[in-house]
Amino acid sequence: MNIAESINNIKSTLPDNVQLVAVSKTKPNEAIMEAYNTGHKVFGENKVQDLVAKHEALPKDIDWHFIGHLQTNKVKFLTPFVSLIHGVDSFKLLKEINKSAAKNDRLVNCLLQVHIAKEDTKFGLSKEEIHSILTNEEYKKLENIRIVGLMGMATYTNDEDIIRSEFGFLSKLFNSLKSEFFSSTEYFKEISMGMSDDYKIAIEEGSTMIRVGSSIFGARNY
Ligand SMILES: *Cc1c(COP(=O)(O)O)cnc(C)c1O
Repeated sequence: MNIAESINNIKSTLPDNVQLVAVSKTKPNEAIMEAYNTGHKVFGENKVQDLVAKHEALPKDIDWHFIGHLQTNKVKFLTPFVSLIHGVDSFKLLKEINKSAAKNDRLVNCLLQVHIAKEDTKFGLSKEEIHSILTNEEYKKLENIRIVGLMGMATYTNDEDIIRSEFGFLSKLFNSLKSEFFSSTEYFKEISMGMSDDYKIAIEEGSTMIRVGSSIFGARNY
């Protein structure tokens, strides 16, 4: 199957409330254009330099999502144009995004990354850390960021029960934060979970945004 067929196939199976982020990391601009020419506009990258280069080279109506681990010293390269930053995993990073977004006169949408996997190697906040951010007086003054939801990555395993329970945990946490901190807003509505191998389970567990790379663009050579 080619890229256009793959992307159309996946999209034809998605419920209306689930958005596809086509993860184009390591793939050339020609591959992205093949997906773009089907009408798809939302792409995800995990390296700041690659994202900036692709944004410069490709059509300006693409919504670029940053899905990688973001260092504070690189925030300034993304804030002028990024649509959504998926992996916010510290208060320090959130404050830096706010500062840089203010300089660019932008409101930058962010997802808090939650550590849901058993592996220590994965990044992400605990429930307690998220609570301490959302109750911090300094957080309430950040006017140039908006937390629109949560993001998580399940354990790398073939055991579907483990994956399902980790995604289920993220959904429950989302619901409890929504009622405790965001009940008067409309914008806290995204749960970014699910990749090529596990997005079907993620959707069953409440995902609103799947991040799919290899099932669209083929395997990556690093
Ligand atoms: C690479 C990546 C994906 C896509 O992975 P595939 O298995 O190729 O679909 C999704 N999310 C993040 C954070 C990634 O780094």
